Amino acid sequence: MVEEFAFDNTEERRKVRQNGTGWIEVIVGSMFSGKSEELIRRLNRARIARQRVQFFKPRIDARYSVAEIASHSGHKHDSMPVSSATELMAAILDETQVVGIDEGQFFDLELIEAANKLAHQGKRVIIAGLDQDYTGKPFEPMPQLLCIAEFITKTHAICVKCGSTANYSQRTVESEARVEVGAADKYEARCRKCFIPHADAPTLHS
Ligand code: ADP
Ligand code: ZN
Repeated sequence: MVEEFAFDNTEERRKVRQNGTGWIEVIVGSMFSGKSEELIRRLNRARIARQRVQFFKPRIDARYSVAEIASHSGHKHDSMPVSSATELMAAILDETQVVGIDEGQFFDLELIEAANKLAHQGKRVIIAGLDQDYTGKPFEPMPQLLCIAEFITKTHAICVKCGSTANYSQRTVESEARVEVGAADKYEARCRKCFIPHADAPTLHS
């Protein structure tokens, strides 16, 4: 079986593999930072290496496509929508070697135990998600997943106001719900200086 290494920490991964266990990789960042792209890239490479891959996303994220994961730049990959970590675990096949999960922030805390269990079974688990909500607060269960992961990657977008490195998802519509599903219609990437930790709708500031 061809081994698949996506990062520079090849040596660490080889050690994990030699140990006979799987591992957890977490990809976090703001909206538009390329989390889905990076996840799709890793899963495509695993497929090229003829590894058996399963790809999940929460049912809540209905943007673009029901049975595919799509990035903001239009890259797609077949995926299975699930309502909970329990439903995800029930859908896992024994022979699966790589489990990809997008929009991890829309799962509950059960995802932590599920990820640990899959890694213990010898599977490579890759989870992408928002690390902060629209107010800049840590978005569970991503902080906990970052703690238990063997490998973590932080992706960054470009601030639409000033062009700096963006670490925040600015909500541009009036809503105080933590989960307000949307893309460029409701959010934009902002840097620390340009981010306003509450709704920044034009109607509020004109
Ligand atoms: P995420 O999953 O982190 O929301 P995606 O992988 O879906 O991100 O989309 C990343 C793509 O979004 C980029 O490759 C780029 O084409 C596009 N994009 C749109 N706005 C921005 C921005 N402000 N900064 C960076 N990329 C952006
Ligand atoms: Zn800025």
